[in-house]
Amino acid sequence: MEAGPEETIQETPPAEAPPRERNPGGLFYECINCGSKISADQLAMTPEIKCPFCGYRILRKVRPPIVKHVKAR
Ligand SMILES: [Zn+2]
Repeated sequence: MEAGPEETIQETPPAEAPPRERNPGGLFYECINCGSKISADQLAMTPEIKCPFCGYRILRKVRPPIVKHVKAR
């Protein structure tokens, strides 16, 4: 009795494109105390708005220098 050589090769589909930066607004905050940059995404995960590094509560909004053409509506 022979079991047929059954070879089912299931190739898993390649992972999707590498995750882009999850930062829809491209907004950053900068701690005015220690100068760390915190993404808005990261800030959204913390219960309070404060620097996760030094605990300072005053953050400055920073926009990354990305030039984007925005179509006028
Ligand atoms: Zn800080």
